[in-house]
Amino acid sequence: MTRAPRQAAAAALAAARRVIPGGVNSPVRAFGAVGGAPPFLVRGRGAELIDTEGHSLIDCVLAYGPLILGHGHPAVTRALRGQLLRGTAFGGPTEAETRLAERIVAAVPSVEMVRLVNSGTEATMSAVRLARAATGREKIVKFDGGYHGHSDGLLAAAGSGVATLGLPGSPGVPAGTVADTIVVPFNDLKAVEGAFEAQGERIAAVLVEPVAGNMGVVPPRAGYLAGLRALTLRWGALLVFDEVMTGFRVAWGGAQALFGVRPDLTCLGKVIGGGLPVGAYGGSRALMEQVAPAGPVYQAGTLSGNPLAVAAGLATLEALADGRAYAALEAAGARLERGLREAAAAAGIALTVNRVGSMLTPFFHPGPVEDYAQARRADRARFAQVHRGWLAAGVFWPPSQFEAGFLSTAHDAATVDRVAAAFATALGAAAGPP
Ligand SMILES: *Cc1c(COP(=O)(O)O)cnc(C)c1O
Repeated sequence: MTRAPRQAAAAALAAARRVIPGGVNSPVRAFGAVGGAPPFLVRGRGAELIDTEGHSLIDCVLAYGPLILGHGHPAVTRALRGQLLRGTAFGGPTEAETRLAERIVAAVPSVEMVRLVNSGTEATMSAVRLARAATGREKIVKFDGGYHGHSDGLLAAAGSGVATLGLPGSPGVPAGTVADTIVVPFNDLKAVEGAFEAQGERIAAVLVEPVAGNMGVVPPRAGYLAGLRALTLRWGALLVFDEVMTGFRVAWGGAQALFGVRPDLTCLGKVIGGGLPVGAYGGSRALMEQVAPAGPVYQAGTLSGNPLAVAAGLATLEALADGRAYAALEAAGARLERGLREAAAAAGIALTVNRVGSMLTPFFHPGPVEDYAQARRADRARFAQVHRGWLAAGVFWPPSQFEAGFLSTAHDAATVDRVAAAFATALGAAAGPP
């Protein structure tokens, strides 16, 4: 079933590697963990991508989460085109920024005020600064395999590309910077309790992906998020939900709406930018009014609240606002989960599918997968083999066991079934002799 080798992609990668480290502008896009060259992409429409070799691929990467409406949604394209003609950047406020902020405030239960930034990295970095300022404490608790962007202090035991590359952290991060980062296993309340008992009066915040997405998808155990809320309240620390991936993805209002737990600060990104670079952090008025110029906690950005990004984000949220999309996304996710499980059962291959709504990961592991240590026990050689087969059969899936795959409103039942059928084909090939 394999197609001709991707020669144009290999040549494009070689050219890129001469001028861009590794040939990619973000490590997760490289295919080091699965082998071969990544497809070089030319255009997208709905659930479909076209690469430089003319292959049509069903896109389950979706820019690593932002494209919840698929590629080229008419409302997003219209909003972008309109804004493009009016101007692409102004060094002054626009009313659209207020409208996007109002949408976020209305949707996300714990957010009364929000500041727009340019990426998820900036959102978490700024939220941590605010948490430290508000508490007068320095230490941050994060989770093994949790990813919060690439700022120095949060690169300890990180997920996503750091996990894929098997790095303990990163050279260039001063030991002093990560000395204030306490890393504990996800889904283990006792470990968090232990951290607080050891140095609770020095902990500013617990920073958590409420549904882990960067060690592959790992949902919180029942009561886990409420337990984090209780512990942080007891010790006077802030609870920060990094909803850069889950915000407006797992539900309108994010994981905090889905699980009914209110953090003090929330980080957003991905979906709220509709495919353009945006991040945001928000929380109560009392906390957010400590941010400059309302308060002394400095944080800024030349292109923050960029008109094009805000237009795409606002159009995306408006398309999602009636909530109907989430029922469709849940149905599509459940259908794909079932298809993947059935394919694995038929092939006699141990598989655990972790899913929340339209984000999911098939782990080649009998399961359960409830933390990063368990995720790491998955059979990554099998994942790599299946990934190659999946791509050959026309599915673009994130090239790592430690990433989430995504569906969009453009993935109808027939498209989802094609993703599952391609997975079955890839599994069949992978089950045979290597
Ligand atoms: C993607 C992601 C980030 C980083 O966002 P960037 O826009 O890539 O800087 C932070 N946290 C989580 C949970 C993410 O999924």
